[in-house]
Amino acid sequence: MGWGFLRQLLLLTAWMATTTTTATAAAVPASKALGFFRTVGKLKTLKRTGWVNHNVFEPESVADHMYRMAMLGFLITDAAVDKDRLIKVCLVHDLAEAVVGDITPHDGVSKEEKRRLEETAMKEILGDLGNDAVADELMALWLDYEDGTGPEAAVAKQLDKYEMIVQADEYERTQGKTLDSFFKSTEGYFTHPEVASWARELLDSRAQRLAGSGAEPEAKKPKTG
Ligand code: ZN
Repeated sequence: MGWGFLRQLLLLTAWMATTTTTATAAAVPASKALGFFRTVGKLKTLKRTGWVNHNVFEPESVADHMYRMAMLGFLITDAAVDKDRLIKVCLVHDLAEAVVGDITPHDGVSKEEKRRLEETAMKEILGDLGNDAVADELMALWLDYEDGTGPEAAVAKQLDKYEMIVQADEYERTQGKTLDSFFKSTEGYFTHPEVASWARELLDSRAQRLAGSGAEPEAKKPKTG
């Protein structure tokens, strides 16, 4: 095998690399992109209903929640989980709320109806992108989370709930509240070893705080949901 052949081969490989990157699709039209960014922006001011219902002062937004959830994903080292995909699932999982709002189990909307509303919202948001490849990727990530088909979805669901109790603990500490129902609702939920260890750490720290302050957990009061 001569140098000429090798050089040819290298040139061919380089050419293929360029064509495959440039061939990956048309850009999202700028006007469509701006519309999408504005829709996503709504999540920055959409307050999470659970905190609103518990009279939390200046409650976090849905975007706040998804950001920290994605950051939690960086710390997952489980080799069975595709971390890049996990982080993407976290960033997309509540996107439909930009259109339908944050519907909780206490809002009188059935699970099926919530799913239907959110799927319609996703189709509306993504149908407006003017780019099937990008729309399909976002939809696949959202459906993965909704249907819980892959290992990433399973871990993302654990991170969703874990992020919520980290936030509940923060509100308890900074606003002097007891948000026991959030901890109760996640009891026994954390089965992934890494998330379970984080949950134990958080619950221990909370238990110590409650023991120290002499505060009674809210569980002893009638549950108001
Ligand atoms: Zn969420």
